[in-house]
Amino acid sequence: MDIALARHWVQAIAVAMDEHQDRLTQLDSAIGDADHGANMHRGFNAVLATQVSYRPDSVSQLLVKVGSTLISSVGGASGPLYGTAFRAAGKALPGTDPDAAELLAALRAGLDAVRELGAAAPGDKTMVDAFLPALDAFEEELRAGGDLAAAAARAARAAEDGARATVPLQARKGRASYLGPRSIGHQDPGATSTALVFGALATAAAAR
Ligand code: ADP
Ligand code: MG
Repeated sequence: MDIALARHWVQAIAVAMDEHQDRLTQLDSAIGDADHGANMHRGFNAVLATQVSYRPDSVSQLLVKVGSTLISSVGGASGPLYGTAFRAAGKALPGTDPDAAELLAALRAGLDAVRELGAAAPGDKTMVDAFLPALDAFEEELRAGGDLAAAAARAARAAEDGARATVPLQARKGRASYLGPRSIGHQDPGATSTALVFGALATAAAAR
């Protein structure tokens, strides 16, 4: 991944959050406070605005900047969680253009940071339920000899499956957990937006 691809990824995320804002809002209105669409939209628009004049030296720096911007522009749980993920991923990258394996290791560091901050385990009906299967699928594809585009495409499908698999779960973290068993039967908004983040990576990588 070079800086141009990282920029394309971020732009594709912003486009996806724009296209899917209403859906994310609807999902969060069922089991939360109906702000997830607006939060993600605001956050990635702020990221886009910083990108106009920002000239990072590395993908590492760029992702750290994405994370800091999300933290400072998004209220709600998702801002700090996504922000921390991008910051941690950026910090884990080398200063040179990362290869697919280095990107995977950095994304794992991002997931670890989310889990440390939010204390969510797999099955708690959070973004972790899309993030973790996405990285496992990414890793499997690399092991099978696939390139970044193939790994990202497979990760995106696994994240979508993971998000759908949150429907029958009871939320144990975040606002949705206040509903107890009434959170069952609805797809988690954060897992859904995480699938969009991986879908955007697949789109950007495929355009190479
Ligand atoms: P808020 O819950 O503050 O309104 P958002 O609506 O933007 O923030 O984001 C909600 C999403 O954040 C949830 O759908 C869930 O995926 C994710 N989330 C909430 N709490 C946690 C947590 N402790 N760990 C991981 N993800 C979480
Ligand atoms: Mg919310």
